[in-house]
This record gives sequence, C-alpha cells and structure tokens, in this order.
Amino acid sequence: MAEVTHNGTENVTDDLFAHAREVIPGGVSSPVRGYGSVGGTPVFVASASGPYTTGVDGREYVDLVCSWGPALLGHAHPEVVEAVQDAASRGLSFGAPTAAEVELADVVRSRVPVAEQVRFVSTGTEATMTAIRLARAATGRDAIVKFAGCYHGHSDALLAEAGSGVATQGLPGSAGVTKAAAGDTIVVGYNDLDALERVFAEAGDRIAAVITEAAPANMGVVAPQPGFNAALRDLTARHGALLIVDEVLTGFRVSPGGWLGLDGGYAPDLVTFGKVIGGGMPLAALGGRADLMQLLAPVGPVYQAGTLSGNPLATAAGLATLRLADDAVYATVDARSLELQAAVADALTAASVPHHISTAGNLFSVFFREGPVANYADAKAQDQAAFARFFHAMLDSGVALPPSAFEAWFLSAAHDDVAMGRIVEALPGAARAAAHS
Ligand SMILES: *Cc1c(COP(=O)(O)O)cnc(C)c1O
Repeated sequence: MAEVTHNGTENVTDDLFAHAREVIPGGVSSPVRGYGSVGGTPVFVASASGPYTTGVDGREYVDLVCSWGPALLGHAHPEVVEAVQDAASRGLSFGAPTAAEVELADVVRSRVPVAEQVRFVSTGTEATMTAIRLARAATGRDAIVKFAGCYHGHSDALLAEAGSGVATQGLPGSAGVTKAAAGDTIVVGYNDLDALERVFAEAGDRIAAVITEAAPANMGVVAPQPGFNAALRDLTARHGALLIVDEVLTGFRVSPGGWLGLDGGYAPDLVTFGKVIGGGMPLAALGGRADLMQLLAPVGPVYQAGTLSGNPLATAAGLATLRLADDAVYATVDARSLELQAAVADALTAASVPHHISTAGNLFSVFFREGPVANYADAKAQDQAAFARFFHAMLDSGVALPPSAFEAWFLSAAHDDVAMGRIVEALPGAARAAAHS
C-alpha cells in the first residue's frame, strides 16, 4: 500500500469504524473487539501472516492477540492454508459424516485420553452449553456451579454473575437472561475451596456439575492453586456431581494435551475444546467419558446438533494445526513467553509501574497492580487506566495487545527474533506512558 500520513491512516480506519457502527452494533461481531475498555478506534485487520497483522490502513502490527488463542502456529501458516484450500476444492460443507472428523477425534483422544469420545461443534459456547445439558441429563439435577471470573461462552446459564458474597446464587449476567436460567447457576469465588465445600454441604444433592476453566485466562491469567482442580474432582465425585474442565482456551495451547497435560493425576468427566483445535476456523468439541458421551443423540436422549458441525474446512485446519503442533512448537512458545514476561517486567519495573505477571504454563497476563492475584476480585482491583495508556503506546509503536486488562497475551511459534525485538523496543515507552496519567 502507498505511504500514508499518520493522520491519513487514522482517517481510513475512523471512517470505516463510523460506517461499521451504523450497520453493526458497536461496529464489531464480538464485543471486546470494539476497544470499549481502552478507548479509540480498533485496528480493522486486512490480512495477517506469521506474527503480524496488517490493518486496512496498511500499518503492520506484531500481534499478541493471535485470534484470542487459535493462531498457535502464527497466522496463515502455509501448510494449514494449503490443507484448507485442498478441502475447499472438494466441497465446503456436506451435512454428512467425513473421514477427517474421525481422524481428528483420534488425534484429540490420543492427546487427551479422558476424551474417550468426541463430538464436534462450531464454537466453544456450544461445547460448554452441551456439556451442561449432558451433566444435567446424566445426574437428573438442575444446579451447576461456576467460578466468578471464569468465562465459558455466552449461553444463558453460563452468563450468570456473582452477586455479593463469596458464594451466591447467580444473577443474570446479561440483559435477556432469565432469573430462572441464572438461578440454577451457583457462582463461587475462584480458588476458594472452603466456599465450594459449604455450597456442596448445603446443596450437594441439587448440583449436576462444577464447570471450571482448566486454568482461567479470561479474567487475566489466574492459575489454579496447586491441587485445586484435583480437589474439585474429589468433591464432585463425593457428591455425585460431574466435573467439566473447560479447555477451550488452554487446550492444545499450553501443552500437547492442554492444561490436563501439565496438571494431571485427576480425570474430569467432560472436557471442552475450542480455539486451537480449529486452527483459526470455527471448530470446537466436547469430549469425555464414553458412557456420558453415549447419552448424546442419536445414541442417547440428549439432543445436540449442528448444520455446520465438523465442517470439512474447519476439520482440515484443525488436523493440519495439530499435526504441526509438535514438541518443538510448544518449546518455542514456552521460551517466547518467558522472554516476553521478563522484558515486560523489566520495563514496568524501570518505570515504577505497579504490576504482577501472572502465568499458567505458557499463558500469561499482566495485572496493573501488585500481586498476588488469586481470583476475580483481585483481578478487578487493578489500574485499568494505566493499562489503557500502556496499550495505546504499544499500538502506536506497532504492537497489538489484547484490548483489555483482563486478557491473556497470546504468542505463537511464529514470533521470531525480529518480532520479539519489535515488542521489546516498544516496551519502555509504553511503560513510561502507563506511569504518567
Ligand atoms: C473462548 C472461550 C469460550 C467460548 O468459545 P467461543 O468459541 O468464543 O464460543 C469458552 N470457554 C473458554 C475458556 C474460552 O476461552
């Protein structure tokens, strides 16, 4: 693209954003993309390659969003693109079973053995929604327990939010969610086993399942305290409830077997996948104990379906991505993560910005407050304005961070020395911007 002045570049994007807001609510297809919490005009992406995205104004950014996780190999990996093109030439959607789905189910099972059977869907939201329905059918119970700050997609029951108190009956977390839908959801503070035990002592015979992010990364990254997930397993088993581990974000990203591959020794009943499993295409999955999975239609009485489920292009992207995601890929992402954490800590320390870098495997996020951060209340008590200044200074220097203080920063195996160098160069100025309100 031809050279454009800084003002010129802003105008192209500003005009597009203005038009977008006329025809699309907020101008975006998913809320966080609208820059609501950092202000300003979002980058409208025209293309992406490896660790970079390019805006419609021709500006290039080192991308630390990676499509919110799926781009483990970097954007538009040639072999993944080729696999999708290949599949596309054979038809875009059949509404019939394919061999590739069976192959992908085998890959999932070999990486995550607790997924004895797998059902493919198109979004993480569908995967968790189906897991909840399955848990209710299997146990004959209505209530579910989720943790404050854990995100499991936007189905009604899982949009319940905590009221006051540590453990409380859910209140609708969105307009349009009924009190009844939210009322069957009990919300407990994350990492708070005492509160969870009290909830089970009171209502254990009503609880169908506990759902948890394998390692939460949607309130910023907040790792489970050692033994926390295993304790959830014990507690649910004692009360005849199921344990659903949501690996939509962590699955196939933090290790070949996801968080369960790092923090094993306990077996959840159901696991949900998304993001990396589709390699950037709309694909997600639910897996788990075969006897539970067999409750799904057409074998069992739990209805679940999808016109585009197991779509051949998405399946091809997922298969190619997982085939390429070998030990070397995970080692690279792990190393880049450590490198970036150290550089961010150095820059923020040098500028005297209070911060806490929180990690779970190769996932990390930066809280603009001192640590520790163990739950959502801790995560919320950070200086979001400082983050917004930091974010915009990074963006002005050509580094696109997730536009919210409550998100993980995503790296890929394509983040090479050049891309890392650009990030590291941008950090000191951004840290100074964060320091000065
Ligand atoms: C992204 C995410 C979801 C929802 O997935 P969608 O594909 O956006 O519907 C569910 N759970 C977790 C942990 C996620 O990170």
